[in-house]
Amino acid sequence: MKTAVVTGSTSGIGLAIATAFAGSGANVVINGLGNLTEVEEIRRHLEELGGGRVIYHPADMSRPAEIADMIATAAAEFGGVDILVNNAGIQHVEKIEDFPVEKWDQIIAINLSSSFHTIRAVIPGMKAKGWGRIINIASAHGLVASPFKSAYVAAKHGIMGLTKAVALEVAESGITVNAICPGYVLTPLVEKQIPDTARARGISEAQVKSDVMLKFQPTREFVAVEEIAAAAQYLASDAARSITGTHISIDGGWTAQ
Ligand code: NAD
Repeated sequence: MKTAVVTGSTSGIGLAIATAFAGSGANVVINGLGNLTEVEEIRRHLEELGGGRVIYHPADMSRPAEIADMIATAAAEFGGVDILVNNAGIQHVEKIEDFPVEKWDQIIAINLSSSFHTIRAVIPGMKAKGWGRIINIASAHGLVASPFKSAYVAAKHGIMGLTKAVALEVAESGITVNAICPGYVLTPLVEKQIPDTARARGISEAQVKSDVMLKFQPTREFVAVEEIAAAAQYLASDAARSITGTHISIDGGWTAQ
């Protein structure tokens, strides 16, 4: 039985990925912010889906010691981590000259450095088993930029580099390291940035959806969280053993332009 750790899995894409792994019978460590009663409901629901156990670890992805404790807890409970999905992420939309310094630091910590901390902690166990899967949820913004998202775009480009460097280091150990680059997926993270984008650009919220977000997504449709989860399941499978150091774009054609 495999064990998956999915960071930021109390909502959106991470929750869909945790649901998919739990449904296929894996043990899953869920993580993320949220009201403890709601998190317990999610945990119980996921555990009912498959044959594995599901535990919650509240590690704050901006705190290295808590991240180390999460991976150590997964190892103690389940004997190691086979699949690591680095998904936790936040966004802040602001002009560079007004971008709060503390927001920059927080985004780099949560969207980029947390993956360094999780990866360095799981690699020894994966090497010992001769098998491992690391999946980093990057973004179309790991490949191309948009204005007013300097920290996010910097962090997501950074995670692409981290993906490639680690993939090369562990290529002979049965461990693959890849990124998934979603376009716009309608999750709480995206819904929250609509008012800020409207303010920064001086347009209505409806225009943000149609003229800013889906303008760059040629399908003119938001991606569904289940599409990201299906790609994660594929990358975690034995069928994808030779796919490493690369990314899968799920962006409705955005980065083909
Ligand atoms: P979301 O807001 O629905 O979920 C984010 C998750 O991260 C939540 O579970 C939240 O609790 C958790 N989180 C936030 N800060 C945390 C912290 N300090 N410690 C631990 N957990 C924390 O967002 P989402 O849209 O599902 O985004 C998930 C990932 O997908 C992010 O990395 C995001 O950048 C990426 N992504 C999203 C989209 C999109 O359009 N939604 C597109 C491309 C990439």
